[in-house]
Amino acid sequence: MIVEDEAGLAERLAEAVVAAGFVADRASDGVEALYLGQTIDYDAVILDLGLPKISGLEVLRQWRAERRQMPVVILSARGTWSERVEGLNLGADDYMAKPFHAAEVVARLRALIRRSSGNPATKLQQGRVSIDLVANVASVEGTDVDLTAQELKVLVYLMQRPGRVISQADLAEHVYGMSDMRESNTIEVFIARLRAKLGREAIRTVRGLGYRMDGL
Ligand code: CA
Repeated sequence: MIVEDEAGLAERLAEAVVAAGFVADRASDGVEALYLGQTIDYDAVILDLGLPKISGLEVLRQWRAERRQMPVVILSARGTWSERVEGLNLGADDYMAKPFHAAEVVARLRALIRRSSGNPATKLQQGRVSIDLVANVASVEGTDVDLTAQELKVLVYLMQRPGRVISQADLAEHVYGMSDMRESNTIEVFIARLRAKLGREAIRTVRGLGYRMDGL
């Protein structure tokens, strides 16, 4: 989620985040941000501190008080170092002072998401399948496989959670933004296409519960 009230800046951040292979929901004030962060399990949040209605620091304080654990990168105006210190003390994971390069925000976001998934490496390997998380390329035994952005998102999410059963609803939440059209059977379609490209055995179905990649 990108929380930023300056429309132009929010747009540039969203473009960079989407180009890096993520889905981005946007909030433009503290009330909306607080609510979305309380109700949706985001992989990470970019949080501007100077927001209308409720400040970014207060939003962060409430999330952490409610044990919302998602990684948060705070954005602050240059010179407001005390805000950044307060933000880090309230549980922010990283910060960027304005002005910044969107590419740096995305790189920090990626690092935070990797760490919060429990695997800080930039490459994932499960059986014959590997993914380069920086280049966003999947391969089978060293040969690159052509995946759509959504197939790649499904695969990364499963590979970051080896041995765990992941439900269709959980996958859908990570593949689609709030404003995207979604159909209930599309996750099944992505899984079928991934199996066709990676080999049937790559992803197991756990009947009634979801999907799993084994750490073999
Ligand atoms: Ca602002």
